Amino acid sequence: MSLNIILLGPPGAGKGTQARILTERRGLVQLSTGDMLREAQASGSEMGKLVADVMAKGQLVTDEIVIGLIREKLAKGGSGFIFDGFPRTLAQADALGDLLAETGESLDAVIEMQVDDETLVRRIVNRADEARAAGQPVRADDNAESVGVRLMAYYKQTSPLIGYYYAKGLLRGVNGLAEIDAVAAEIAAILD
Ligand code: AMP
Repeated sequence: MSLNIILLGPPGAGKGTQARILTERRGLVQLSTGDMLREAQASGSEMGKLVADVMAKGQLVTDEIVIGLIREKLAKGGSGFIFDGFPRTLAQADALGDLLAETGESLDAVIEMQVDDETLVRRIVNRADEARAAGQPVRADDNAESVGVRLMAYYKQTSPLIGYYYAKGLLRGVNGLAEIDAVAAEIAAILD
């Protein structure tokens, strides 16, 4: 049986890294709205142009846009999804529940990756420095100013999801400060 899980946590918590590990080890499909939005920008689509400024500043794009992206993916059917960076608001969480119910699917777990703010900022700034040093493109929102806005968006708009999923009995916390493999092992223990 495949699992549908959410990786919840602030920017820099390691959601993308753990999502990729789950993809490799369990054959789950990673659905990252951040990646989808960056692809839309890279392709030069109208929607990509529309969200570029908001993303660079570190604010959230509209619920309508990201729910639309997820709806498209889920309409193709299947199961075994890792939601990475979605949902980020209560409206998105409600919409996800409805979309999954339409295909008879449900969520199995919401994994909250817990990391303190200081570590988050350090990780994101390091990620930008490493990319720059390697001559790779640096994310437009990986700078000190946008990181502050992204953290604020997380606490104001996304952290209410912790209570929302706790109330549904789905929330599981993991220590996001541990080494990548140790975090992966903690997640594996939850899912097994
Ligand atoms: P991420 O790669 O998940 O850090 O997302 C990068 C940026 O994309 C965020 O700072 C937002 O501007 C936008 N974004 C990604 N996912 C969402 C979402 N679920 N709701 C609103 N905005 C999002």
